[in-house]
Amino acid sequence: MSLPQRQTDIGPPHYEHFLPPVIKKNYGKWKYHEVLTPGTMVHVAESGDKIWTVRVASPRILSTVTIREISDIADNHCGGHIRFTTRNNIEFLVSDEEKLAPLIEELKEKGYVVGGIGPRISNVIHTQGWIHCHGAATDASGLVKAMMDEMFEYFTTKELPNKVRLAVACCVNMCGAVHCSDIALVALHTKVPVIDHEKLKNTCEIPTIIASCPTAAISPDPAKKSVKIKESKCMYCGNCFTVCPAINIHDAERDGIAIVVGGKIGSLRSDPKFSKLAYTFFYNDPPRWPKVIAAVKNILNTYAANARKHERVGEWIERIGWEKFFKMTNIPFTFQHIDDFTFMRETMRTAATFKW
Ligand code: SF4
Ligand code: SF4
Repeated sequence: MSLPQRQTDIGPPHYEHFLPPVIKKNYGKWKYHEVLTPGTMVHVAESGDKIWTVRVASPRILSTVTIREISDIADNHCGGHIRFTTRNNIEFLVSDEEKLAPLIEELKEKGYVVGGIGPRISNVIHTQGWIHCHGAATDASGLVKAMMDEMFEYFTTKELPNKVRLAVACCVNMCGAVHCSDIALVALHTKVPVIDHEKLKNTCEIPTIIASCPTAAISPDPAKKSVKIKESKCMYCGNCFTVCPAINIHDAERDGIAIVVGGKIGSLRSDPKFSKLAYTFFYNDPPRWPKVIAAVKNILNTYAANARKHERVGEWIERIGWEKFFKMTNIPFTFQHIDDFTFMRETMRTAATFKW
């Protein structure tokens, strides 16, 4: 005898319960889609059914008030159906074309920015930053705000050769999609963590700390009933700090940001690519990080002016060659690009043809 299916709160419910009826009906039978405006597109099924999408930007970290407002808009126009993309765009879905205009009108009235579809910048995926994560070497939300204030029109109106995915990670653990984004900021700690031995022996589990280090730089220090760190092996990742607050890695004066370029997830035209190092380091300069933002704009503008239509940033760089990319963008080429930060596994050294 089979048992009745139990309802639990373990794990997410099956996504099928939340699909709009038209998507459920045509599941796996969609024919094509078309971008209508910078913020709208339509998907057409083999049956002739259609579903329209309206995309708006989100700051990713949302208040409950905003989530309730978004839900109310979805209830009013979309039968309650919305989705968040992997880069935290909010997409409102309607299966009746007549509902499109009133939906967009209400979104604009309430201050939501419609855009991000097609050959432009979509929402910037980012990590927790100083708001939430103990390990952050910079502020993710602040950087994204500073960046998008300057590049806003690439979300709403202006076109680029192809889509450009931006990302920010506030440490090298990279909870964001930095390794596979066209242009991405990754924050770095730059010093070996400082151990408070007195605190450590009373607070933390030594085997857990040792196991947390990806480069095996941590070993026991029995005399102090603590641990020691081999400096030459440390890559400043902060994992040990994550499991033991008695090991501090933060340094307000020395933490900063690197910029990596050329990553992508899609396999259209060329294989997915990992990002590679472009700008090696900028010191944190909140609240607007002017040097970092100028550097991102430099890469974006050089790409916009020189890439062929449909080329992603990484495809453009590979066509012209990395040497030419550094020359065109005037990015200083330094020893880190060859010998690299230890965390960057994919380096210029992997290309035997690279000459400088
Ligand atoms: Fe925390 Fe690092 Fe993730 Fe940022 S990237 S949220 S600091 S683990
Ligand atoms: Fe190991 Fe990272 Fe801690 Fe350095 S910062 S000791 S690499 S866990």
